[in-house]
Amino acid sequence: MQSVELTPRSLDDYVAAAGGDAVDEVRRTAAALSGARVLHINATAYGGGVAEILHSLVPLMRDAGLDASWAVVEAEPAFYDVTKKIHNALQGMALELSAAEQELFVETQRRNAATLPQADLVVAHDPQTVALLALGGAHGARWTWRCHIDLTAAHPSVWEFMRPFVERHDAAIFTMPQFVQPDLRINRVEIIPPAIDPTTPKNRELPREQSAEIVRHHGLDPDRPLLVQVSRFDPWKDPLGVIDAFRLVRAEVPDVQLAMLGSLAHDDPEGAAFLERTLAHADGEEGIRCLTNLDGVGDREVSAFQRAATVIIQKSLREGFGLVVSEGLWKRVPVIGGNCGGIPLQVIDGVNGYLVESVAECAQRALTLLRDPALRGRMGDAGRERVRQNFLITRNLRDYLRLFTALRAGSAAA
Ligand code: UDP
Repeated sequence: MQSVELTPRSLDDYVAAAGGDAVDEVRRTAAALSGARVLHINATAYGGGVAEILHSLVPLMRDAGLDASWAVVEAEPAFYDVTKKIHNALQGMALELSAAEQELFVETQRRNAATLPQADLVVAHDPQTVALLALGGAHGARWTWRCHIDLTAAHPSVWEFMRPFVERHDAAIFTMPQFVQPDLRINRVEIIPPAIDPTTPKNRELPREQSAEIVRHHGLDPDRPLLVQVSRFDPWKDPLGVIDAFRLVRAEVPDVQLAMLGSLAHDDPEGAAFLERTLAHADGEEGIRCLTNLDGVGDREVSAFQRAATVIIQKSLREGFGLVVSEGLWKRVPVIGGNCGGIPLQVIDGVNGYLVESVAECAQRALTLLRDPALRGRMGDAGRERVRQNFLITRNLRDYLRLFTALRAGSAAA
């Protein structure tokens, strides 16, 4: 198990975005947990939403007085092939795990469980860590499994493989009630949506000229209309559908452009192959750019494209939460999101964006927004407010602290 280096953060810096009351509430809730050893474990320190959250959440737990740390599992590449398969099956693909795959999954977690640091409270994120507790990680700590995946259509046999591992935990956190499987037997279930950090380079203000310059540098014209999707290259994010929708839009608005930004995450072995498929589908068309971390796309670039977007698209077919949706709304840009998973928590149809279920609907809504700047302005303001009230990290932090307090008190089932 590898511990992750963290940049310190201070709760004081969140007052401007989240308000003094929200920060005070965090401090009050944290007081009783002072010095508690909290260990978060996940699969990767880089790429995807979970890493994004932990880079902020863990330092903030420290600032609130907890002894918090973050470790990532160590594994062979083949382990991530298995866990991506589990991820895909849990999101609804009819995939079966072979005996050899199950064994690789179990043995990797057994090895990692043997090197677990001591802690009072452990939060294991996603399937890549679900078996650590059952395979020897206990050490008297209270354990929570935090599931970031959309389980609405979980493939039964793979969920059945996961379930006994999940049930060993003291608590499980899901993003939405719809994700809780009816046969799950566990003492405590919490519904906690994730949230974004308004102070990071990705989410704090960036002058308009700088975002325009970054967009220009990456080969697009900031003065032409721009659709943006920021997502790993993954079938559930439907990048091919985004290109199809873009082509329908372009038939009506010829100067529209499309940027698709997707970092290649360490725990996502499908990323490079799916990027190839996306590039083949884009077929070199003028006005379409697919950019990754290999093109120098980092947090500042993501921020610039989200800010420069006329409309943000998140055309997912399944989505645990979709941090990118809140990131876009926070920047006052309307978001067209797939009507699935955590997206409808964030996008209120017709208020701060639109929820869509097809390529044609996505294109239609994009045209409506491209043609109506006043509507975009109203929706942008509504989006910012929705995130301020619900999806800032101070709220996520407070929810964790409340759960830790309850777990330490050994309180009865929720
Ligand atoms: N992200 C990024 N660069 C990229 C693509 C994604 O920094 O090229 C970030 C994105 O801004 C967001 C996270 O990765 O913070 C993705 O989280 P989300 O919940 O949207 O999706 P996940 O990848 O976890 O399925």
